[in-house]
Amino acid sequence: MTARILVVDDIEANLKFLEARLLADYFDVVCTDNGRDALAICAGGQVDVILLDVMMPEMDGFEVCERLKADPATAHIPVVMVTALDQPADRVRGLKAGADDFLTKPVNDLQLISRVKSLARLKTMSDELRDRLKTAGSIDIQESIGADGHIEKPGRILLIDGRASSQERIVKALKPVAEVCAWSDPSNAIFEATENPYDLVIINSNFDDFDPLRLCSQLRSLDRTRFLPLLIVTEQNDDAMVVRALDLGVNDYIIRPIDPNELVARTLSQIKRKRFNDRLREDLAQTMELAVIDGLTGLNNRRYLDLHLKTLFNRAALRGRDISVCMTDIDCFKQVNDLYGHEAGDEVLKEFASRLRSTVRGADLACRYGGEEFVVVMPDTSLETAAVVAERLRSIIEDRPFVLRSGQHLQITASMGIASNLAGVDSPEQLMRQADRALYEAKRSGRNRVVAAAA
Ligand code: GH3
Ligand code: MG
Ligand code: MG
Repeated sequence: MTARILVVDDIEANLKFLEARLLADYFDVVCTDNGRDALAICAGGQVDVILLDVMMPEMDGFEVCERLKADPATAHIPVVMVTALDQPADRVRGLKAGADDFLTKPVNDLQLISRVKSLARLKTMSDELRDRLKTAGSIDIQESIGADGHIEKPGRILLIDGRASSQERIVKALKPVAEVCAWSDPSNAIFEATENPYDLVIINSNFDDFDPLRLCSQLRSLDRTRFLPLLIVTEQNDDAMVVRALDLGVNDYIIRPIDPNELVARTLSQIKRKRFNDRLREDLAQTMELAVIDGLTGLNNRRYLDLHLKTLFNRAALRGRDISVCMTDIDCFKQVNDLYGHEAGDEVLKEFASRLRSTVRGADLACRYGGEEFVVVMPDTSLETAAVVAERLRSIIEDRPFVLRSGQHLQITASMGIASNLAGVDSPEQLMRQADRALYEAKRSGRNRVVAAAA
């Protein structure tokens, strides 16, 4: 998917230049020469990033930005203000108006493309998150990340900087928006980054005897810091360093001498971005968990069993260990539904699952295989031991009646088929087939019993 960029500038030559540059990088580009049209295009809902000129007749860039950010329908679209180099005060006004990033004229190619790319990525990510939250039908994303760029909790920043004087300046500039912890020794700083929950690492490339890019690459490769945003401070005209840094996965850069307002803006934008990502990842983890758990009983579902049995089986084969499975099916369960109703049937399934869970070890994998069928996978367990476990399960089902919420007592029994990886069983599918056949035999020979697969 290519991002669609809206370029707003009242001067034709500026529009043409930015359009050509963005088209060369395969962005989809829309142009307009005035603020009113820009607002209308954004309201149409198809814009991923806006490049907004400040000085325009009628409605200037600040007003366009303010209006975009005030409208919930457009507030999430990243805005890059294009300001004149000799008007540093414009950046502060842009920031106040809610701009996400700045570019100064004349616009540098590398800066243009890298900023637009990273904002487009942010937009894609936030769109996905918004969609998911909408599907979940609850949380409003604006609750935790304000449309105006305001962030709920102050950010925690790790500053790695070889010089005391610049450390001091950066800490001072960021004081209003973040807690900054400054380190001058890179190796200790890496340790610190893995030990504490930071929102952003700022690396000043001013070390005498240490390659700042090595630091970036180390932070990117460590598990604990892989997703941590990195911002690097570079020398003027060091495009080569910037290109390599971005390649390594550095998220943003700022050029010396540092403009405090720019530093604040880029910092806030990175922290916002991180919080979006964190939410997305949490959401994803939850979705994945739901995908492998049975909603009624809370046991793992068949999908999970299919995935995981293979791993357990192969591990046992590799180490020459036993592995057994017990397949169990509630006897005459249809009658429970027929006589007491489907809800009573569900209650029985839940209670059955809870007794099943209490019978097996932590290392065993208990799953609802479907309907009223359950499977327990037992690593490091011989067929004889599996028979003991299955018999224990059979008796705790039979011995105590199932008490419904209505107060009714039901006598429930279940049949079990067990199998293990004896000679001739060389795949998880075969193991399951054997257990299934044994279960069928248990049913056929009268139910409420355990049958082991014949070797
Ligand atoms: P058998 O002893 O041969 O296993 O007989 P059975 O009645 O248990 O087996 P059968 O396969 O004929 O019927 C299983 C029933 O389980 C049919 C189906 O309606 C019911 N069932 C499957 N899933 C659920 C569920 O989630 N909730 C409820 N209440 N019933 C379910
Ligand atoms: Mg049954
Ligand atoms: Mg059945």
